Amino acid sequence: MKITIVYDNEVRQPGLIADWGFSCLIEAQDTPKILFDTGTSGSILLHNMNQLGIDPSSIGIVVISHPHWDHFGGLQDIMEASKDAELYLPESFLGRASARKITRVKHPLEIRHNIFSTGELEGIEQSLAIGTDKGLLVVVGCSHPGVGSILDAASRFGKVYGIVGGFHGFHQLDRLTPLSLICPCHCTQYKSEIKRLFPERCLECGAGVIIELGSP
Ligand SMILES: [Zn+2]
Ligand SMILES: [Zn+2]
Repeated sequence: MKITIVYDNEVRQPGLIADWGFSCLIEAQDTPKILFDTGTSGSILLHNMNQLGIDPSSIGIVVISHPHWDHFGGLQDIMEASKDAELYLPESFLGRASARKITRVKHPLEIRHNIFSTGELEGIEQSLAIGTDKGLLVVVGCSHPGVGSILDAASRFGKVYGIVGGFHGFHQLDRLTPLSLICPCHCTQYKSEIKRLFPERCLECGAGVIIELGSP
C-alpha cells in the first residue's frame, strides 16, 4: 500500500506547488484509489496530481476529513475530473457537493476491506486507518479532535503503526512514543520538536513524499 502526499504547505519534489492545505492519495491492494482531502485550490491540486502522474479520472473514492477550506477547497474541481468517484463526507460538512454516491459519516465505518474511518470525532473530523503488514497507518487532516483521541479511536481497528497528516497544535508528544512512523504535515505546529524527539521515526512531509508499506 502506498501513500503519496499531493498537497502540502511544503514540497519535496521539483515542479510541485506548495500551498497551505492538505491532500494525499492512498493506493491499497484491491481497493479503488482514494484521495484523502483536496487542498485549498483545485487548480494547484490538479497541477500537482498531473506532475505526480496521477490521473484524476482514476480516483474511485474521495474522502473529506473536515469542513475547512484548506481540506475541501479542491473538491468541486476533483469531482468534475473524477466523475465515477464516490464521496465520503463528515456529517458536519454542510457545503454543496455532488457525486455518483455520497456517504455522510458519523460513526466508525469500514469504507473498504482494511480501510476504516474513525467516524466523525468531536462533531468535526474523520480520519482514516489503513491496514498494512506492520499495523494501521492513520491518515489525518488537521487533527482538530486531538491526535490522542484520533489514535484512541483508530485503535479499535487494530494496533496503530504510524500516522501521517496535519497534527495542528497537538503537544502531548509522548502519545507518539509507541508509533514507528510519524509524518507530521501541513498545520503541525510542533514539527521541529517531533523531529528532535523521534529522529529515527519521523519522516519529513511535503508534496511528493511517498510512504510505501506492505499489505496486511
Ligand atoms: Zn482544519
Ligand atoms: Zn488544515
